Amino acid sequence: MKKAVVCGAGGFIGSHLVKRLQREGYWVRGADLKFPEFSPTTANDFVKGDLRDPIICREVFDQPFDQVYQLAADMGGAGYVFTGLNDADIMHNSALINLNVLESCHRRNISRIFYSSSACMYPEHNQLDPLNPNCAEDSAYPASPDSEYGWEKLFSERLYLAFGRNYGMQVRVARFHNIFGPEGTWTGGKEKAPAAMCRKVAETAEGGELEMWGDGQQTRSFLYIEECLEAVRLLTDSDWTGPVNIGSEEMVTINQLAEMAMKIAGKKLSIRHIPGPLGVRGRNSDNRLYRQQLGWAPSQPLVDGLAKTYTWIEGQIRAQRRT
Ligand code: NAD
Repeated sequence: MKKAVVCGAGGFIGSHLVKRLQREGYWVRGADLKFPEFSPTTANDFVKGDLRDPIICREVFDQPFDQVYQLAADMGGAGYVFTGLNDADIMHNSALINLNVLESCHRRNISRIFYSSSACMYPEHNQLDPLNPNCAEDSAYPASPDSEYGWEKLFSERLYLAFGRNYGMQVRVARFHNIFGPEGTWTGGKEKAPAAMCRKVAETAEGGELEMWGDGQQTRSFLYIEECLEAVRLLTDSDWTGPVNIGSEEMVTINQLAEMAMKIAGKKLSIRHIPGPLGVRGRNSDNRLYRQQLGWAPSQPLVDGLAKTYTWIEGQIRAQRRT
């Protein structure tokens, strides 16, 4: 039986990835500071510990594994990443995790390792026009991310690629663009735009007012979790290193995202634009390289994934009100 480790298995993407790997027949060890928030972990084994600690890392990698997925990071939505208040923690914590995980894998002669980078590493100057952002993989340099989160991702991408070159490790690097879906953080300050919009719409009565950071003209694309996992698995099993975008090319404004959530809910709310942390003006995934190398592209429309996410968040709100 093939064995895999998922670091960050208590998080949104990691907990879904554990299930996906198990469906494919893998024995999976999860590792995280915490267990998944919204349903029990299905991992065959789970190390609850801090990957900043090299001793914990050695415990996690105490035997050979066929594949490792490194998703653990100190991260959150715009309210966490773009205020500047968490910069030192974000850089220090995530860099330490990546240094330790790579060192432990190298020590154990574990070769195939997937690393989740982020579209936040792309230069800000290519993302000023909301209608024409450039996020082609080869636009990464000269580097100028708009957040320390993005700089750490860029550093760690290079770290993985260096281990790949110098130690013959089969590293795979993907740059995620806004992954969303059920069982993602939906409240508390670390939630991303799709979950935040669904929550606000679900919590607001018909005819009420929805608060939105900025003018809502900023653009983004959002990829549903199942399609993200398909892309991650294809890339990891392939013989191609990356770095490559994993995202959707269906770009919308945040105003359109809010309208979509309202339509799903069957509610009409007015939008009140307020100042808040925003990130770049425009961003869209560019999937040409992925398509060319791996012959696959996501196909689900945003509204389908958003409807599933809305239903799940509405259920969470109802459950919270009952307690
Ligand atoms: P998440 O926050 O839900 O999961 C990250 C997990 O890492 C959390 O469960 C957290 O407890 C764990 N973690 C943090 N510090 C740790 C430590 N010191 N030791 C052990 N575990 C630790 O985030 P996610 O949305 O599942 O994202 C997974 C990865 O994908 C992250 O690396 C993130 O930067 C990257 N990414 C995600 C998105 C997205 O839209 N979700 C976009 C770009 C990149």
